Amino acid sequence: MKKPAIEGGTPARNKPLPPNYPGAVVMGQEEAEFASKVILAQSPFRYYSPDPQSAVDKLENAISAKMNIPYALGVTSGTASLIVAMKALGIGYGDKVIVPANTFLATPGAVVCCNAVPVFCDIDESLNLDPAALEQVYDEDVKAIIVVPILGNPVDMDPVLAFARSKNIAVIEDMAQSCGVTYKGQYGGTIGNIGAFSFQMNKIITGGEGGAVVTRDLDLFERAIRYHDQGIVRHRDRYGIDSPDEEFAFVGQNYRMSDITGAVLFEQFNKLDEIVASMRRSHAIIKQALSVQFPELQFRNCPDPDDGQIGSNLGFLFPSAEAANKFNQAMHAENIGTHALYAGKPAYRTAAIFNQRTADKDNFPFNYPFKNPVIYTEDLCPRAIDLLPRAAFLPIAPTLTEQDVEEIIEGATKVLHSLREQARVL
Ligand SMILES: *Cc1c(COP(=O)(O)O)cnc(C)c1O
Repeated sequence: MKKPAIEGGTPARNKPLPPNYPGAVVMGQEEAEFASKVILAQSPFRYYSPDPQSAVDKLENAISAKMNIPYALGVTSGTASLIVAMKALGIGYGDKVIVPANTFLATPGAVVCCNAVPVFCDIDESLNLDPAALEQVYDEDVKAIIVVPILGNPVDMDPVLAFARSKNIAVIEDMAQSCGVTYKGQYGGTIGNIGAFSFQMNKIITGGEGGAVVTRDLDLFERAIRYHDQGIVRHRDRYGIDSPDEEFAFVGQNYRMSDITGAVLFEQFNKLDEIVASMRRSHAIIKQALSVQFPELQFRNCPDPDDGQIGSNLGFLFPSAEAANKFNQAMHAENIGTHALYAGKPAYRTAAIFNQRTADKDNFPFNYPFKNPVIYTEDLCPRAIDLLPRAAFLPIAPTLTEQDVEEIIEGATKVLHSLREQARVL
């Protein structure tokens, strides 16, 4: 066996992996052309101009058609998509919203922006929300569950939907990291009441910034349109919405997507299948090769019987945090940047959330006098505390070559052999 680079051997790769920006690394001529068209038509706004290019409309139609869901709305960001989704559902002051312990800050942040309070639910070996832990955190002030398929791995939706139905609460899918994920053959985002996507740089497809909301429910959709555009509905014919603004408008905001962003995202969305197919292929090859050599190696669990993950990351679960750290350090030395997610910490351990600090007076909305007060303790979600420091992620870019994949397998093999031999940490 060759020596790992961290022990003085030659690194498996002579340069770092390509950056993990799946959409951005395949951005090119198509995006440039459509964006130029919008710019040269002097038509950067989606709703009016002398020569409309309707790029956001085209993006929305493409999302609807591909994901088999009647309504899609482009917005300015993933955070905006969550806010618009919650406002469409009428969530606000005095409400609680369940969010998974393992998520990006934007998920609980959007809940707070809607004047509601996030309640953290524990996770399981999928590293996503554990449906079996929902009952524990539910009370009558909870109005919705936000599920978050983290880093391309689907959430076990059936038990989540069954639970939500039994309590008559809504399910929001935060698809920010997982555009293209499926569960039992259905696209993530189209399974709950409303789905929220991000198209920020780090996500599966990107316009730099951007987001989208999808739903099957026309009433929810109308409210989403209104909230994202100052309370009003334009281009009503497109949806057959005839409720007069005088009667139905409420105070909204501006989360409208620009038509330049729409043009870029329309072309990015056209590339989604290609991006996902490539990531899935590399993911499967690497996982298979390592499983054969290291039968004791544990990967994060995919709760979908059809394996609907998108392969953007391969998730490992080591027996200890020490083993995960050693793995990451040794892999870095091989020029293969595996890493912990969010420093191995649940979102509620982040200072602002933990201390319930907001920009508002008296830390509104955390000051709401709930019957069961929401308090975050260090060990609020014990499984998240156990699992997250033991997890390591290998990013898989859509542009990996066969040689990249071979080098990743070679590097991981050296490192895992050495871990197994030195300390029996595997
Ligand atoms: C990135 C992200 C968001 C926020 O998306 P933005 O477009 O950056 O606002 C929300 N939720 C999750 C899980 C994310 O990863």
